[in-house]
Amino acid sequence: MAPSGTTSTAVLAQLQRRSADPNRRILFTGATIVTMDADLGVLHDADLLVEGDTITAIGTGLDRDGAVVVEATGTILTPGFVDTHRHAWQTQLRRIMPDVDDLGAYVMSTLAGHATAYRPQDMYIGTRLAALTAIDSGITCMLDFSHNSRTPQHSDAAVQALVDTGIRGVHASMGPHFGDWDKQWPGDLARLKERYFASDDRMLTLRLAALATGEIAGPALAYGPELARIAKELGIGVSVDAVFGTSSSAAIAEWEKGGLLCADLTLIHATGLTSEAWKAIGGSGTSIALAPTSEAQIGLETAIPAIDEALSVGVRPGLSIDVEVALASDMFTQMRALHAIQRMRAVNAVYRTGRQPTRITTHDVLDFATLQGARTNGLADVTGSLTPGKKADLLVIQAEDLNNMPLNDPIGTVVLGSDTRNISAVLINGQPRKWNGQVLDVDLPALREEVHASRAHVLTTLA
Ligand SMILES: [Zn+2]
Repeated sequence: MAPSGTTSTAVLAQLQRRSADPNRRILFTGATIVTMDADLGVLHDADLLVEGDTITAIGTGLDRDGAVVVEATGTILTPGFVDTHRHAWQTQLRRIMPDVDDLGAYVMSTLAGHATAYRPQDMYIGTRLAALTAIDSGITCMLDFSHNSRTPQHSDAAVQALVDTGIRGVHASMGPHFGDWDKQWPGDLARLKERYFASDDRMLTLRLAALATGEIAGPALAYGPELARIAKELGIGVSVDAVFGTSSSAAIAEWEKGGLLCADLTLIHATGLTSEAWKAIGGSGTSIALAPTSEAQIGLETAIPAIDEALSVGVRPGLSIDVEVALASDMFTQMRALHAIQRMRAVNAVYRTGRQPTRITTHDVLDFATLQGARTNGLADVTGSLTPGKKADLLVIQAEDLNNMPLNDPIGTVVLGSDTRNISAVLINGQPRKWNGQVLDVDLPALREEVHASRAHVLTTLA
């Protein structure tokens, strides 16, 4: 079976001709559809219909009437990946410290150093570059843990970058750790909400971002009753970073007592927590965002991604990228790292005992990277699975490319075989954002010039 013309430029031209039509119909035909919807499962040689921004039908022999038809034989359709935490502003500093082995070294170099040189336009360029790269690699929803909000203009620039790339963006706002700043956060959240987050298409959502304790940057950035009250009054969720070890476990005990653990709260990393802390998390609806390469490669607390601990209290986590100063930027890396690490732990724990290891599967990690990520970001009713009624955030993955042929198991092919190069098309909210293997609406030479100039500013200002 040869792959078809699928995401050709001729089809894109048809889509663009009808881009003003709010009811534009796009019909993908003949695909293997990995829905990640528990009721729908995997469909073979099936069709998927998008009307406007929404998936309206999945099945066989769907009506082609008036639709732009995308022949998708030889491809796998999956939901777009959902990133539950990355610090997008840092992207000009990509891989600047690839072998960093100490959280303190990262904090001093990046947060106490480079961050202080950032102007609003540097926030814009870093965030835009991160979002475009995310789209290229199939991440359709990205939580930007934007913790360099030195002025209102820094926040505006970070939000505008999400808007301009067309990604489903979650802007999680936090003040900077160190250096001079306007002290406008968290008060400025009310202005941000009113200015950018009033519409209800859910393309942009706002969260409050905080740290677990005052250990890194003092008590003002630490989650507690005051920040919880502000988030509640604004009706927004909270994402808490740097959750690890005994001090975070003690904080979690306090949050439990104060009623601050809840479904609107996400705890990031969660390495080295006590069993009491896990018990409190498990009963509360609090979600967990793992960053497998961050935890293992940089070495956060125990350095072991807390997958078994989360599952043992009934929490299915989302996955995240964290910092591009040291780590890969795509979700394939996170899925494979977690899959390997958990299975290594599981077998190692019962080695020579005769007991059976409890291993996660490729389906589990794909669930974490899609539907559980959406739930973690508070968007499970919008994205994360191919379900009629949800927004059309989806990927077309070439299953018959050199590195994927022949297609034997679609979930195995996505999780273990595929890469950014196999993603021929990305739809976000029904709009093509990548087509025929190229991210759309990007002038790459101009972007490169901006990125280099911004990096030069940050590095020379610091020196
Ligand atoms: Zn982080």
